[in-house]
Amino acid sequence: MAWISSGSTNAALIKNLRSNGLIKSELVNNAMLAVDRAHYAPATPYHDSPQIIGFGATISAPHMHATAAESLLPYLHPCARILDIGSGSGYLTAVLANLVGPAGKVVGIDHVQGLVDLANNNMSKSKEGREMLESGKVRFLKADGRLGLDDGEGGWDAIHVGAAAKEAHTALVEQLRAPGRLFIPVGQDRQYIWVIDKKADGTVVREKSFGVTYVPLTDAPRE
Ligand code: SAH
Repeated sequence: MAWISSGSTNAALIKNLRSNGLIKSELVNNAMLAVDRAHYAPATPYHDSPQIIGFGATISAPHMHATAAESLLPYLHPCARILDIGSGSGYLTAVLANLVGPAGKVVGIDHVQGLVDLANNNMSKSKEGREMLESGKVRFLKADGRLGLDDGEGGWDAIHVGAAAKEAHTALVEQLRAPGRLFIPVGQDRQYIWVIDKKADGTVVREKSFGVTYVPLTDAPRE
């Protein structure tokens, strides 16, 4: 599943992810087609593998980005507010921004300022990316993702976590809107994706999904 989707162009990579069943919907297909991975993972952009991006971080593999976007898709309505924790390269933040309407908002947070700068630079490489930054549809901030982000605007329709947490932090579940979904890798030696839904009536349903390998969600490094 992991490596067989590689392609020689962005379009070929997306086509292979789709034919291998990792991309399921037209919406995620188009959102990923519209973001050139070469702007985010310059070494081997169309390889379906994680890559080192500096500051001890990696950009996740395209099949994980596709899987996360597909999982969150039902919550990405036109005005949705989305939080991308451990935004790293900014690639998934950009893809998620393509899945909400002009009034939607996506905030990427990372605890390394160099990565916040990198994500801003990466998105600025395309006209569409620059427009999303200038309009405020997408913002990258330095913050500790374990606390989520309370920006006073009433929580998040979807929260993606791009690093493995020791636990599904309470703050993240609290900051979910009802309905809302949290997609989070949890665990240390063995990590699993947990999909945590807050139903419209406020009930929280937790589902342990498949095994994964992510860098850990940690204390901030000394800068
Ligand atoms: N989604 C990103 C993944 C980057 S790797 C991408 O595909 O590019 C995971 C990221 O989590 C790193 O950028 C790391 O700096 C960040 N991170 C780790 N612990 C964190 C924390 N406590 N708060 C915020 N970001 C954190």
